[in-house]
Amino acid sequence: MATGVILRKTSLIDYPGLVSAVIFFPGCNLRCPWCHNGELVTGKTPSAGFIPLEEALGRLEKRRRVLGGVVLSGGEPTLVPELPELTGRIRAAGLKVKLDTNGMLPQALEKLFASEKTKPDYIALDLKLAPERYGELLPRPEDGNSPGAADPEGNKTPAGERLRRSAALIRGSGIRHEFRSLRLPAPYFGQGDLAALAPLTGTSPWHIRPFLPGNCLDPRWNT
Ligand code: SF4
Repeated sequence: MATGVILRKTSLIDYPGLVSAVIFFPGCNLRCPWCHNGELVTGKTPSAGFIPLEEALGRLEKRRRVLGGVVLSGGEPTLVPELPELTGRIRAAGLKVKLDTNGMLPQALEKLFASEKTKPDYIALDLKLAPERYGELLPRPEDGNSPGAADPEGNKTPAGERLRRSAALIRGSGIRHEFRSLRLPAPYFGQGDLAALAPLTGTSPWHIRPFLPGNCLDPRWNT
């Protein structure tokens, strides 16, 4: 696994109920203008922040006794082709795995769920806008070859449909999970978005948090 990642060695807030480490993967197949991880998403993170994934895994191995779990975040971790191998390795080391995802690659989730060994122990799926509006969040041609700008699956399915499929897969997986939304400013985001997203959540937990401006991918969102 040659991927470069950013490792947060300890977190008390990213994995509900567990002390965890967080691995941030570069690249994303969305460009949410409010994204707080813009440098990671666009590949402009200073190289000093990256370490090889294998090195990150080695550090986690040494901290196994103080950690309960590992959060795979980003960026978008489902863009990593070796994700099933990675979740399998972390679980085999006795740590639980939480996956944070934007749900744009339901095929990647299917691969992950195909084996008990590679299934995450917890999933958080972000629900950003009404599914019909997800086209607004896709990378534009001027985003070029930045990581994740191109869909590695060559997916022709509309983004909102992929989101619905991922939500259904997660609801039916038997894996502990939650849905997450940001209460973005009106009129950009409103009751119509919430109403369109509600059917995706079923009876699962759905946490809606306030939007906090600052360090947004699109600087206009900071004001
Ligand atoms: S999906 Fe997440 S990481 Fe990707 S651009 Fe949106 S907020 Fe940022």
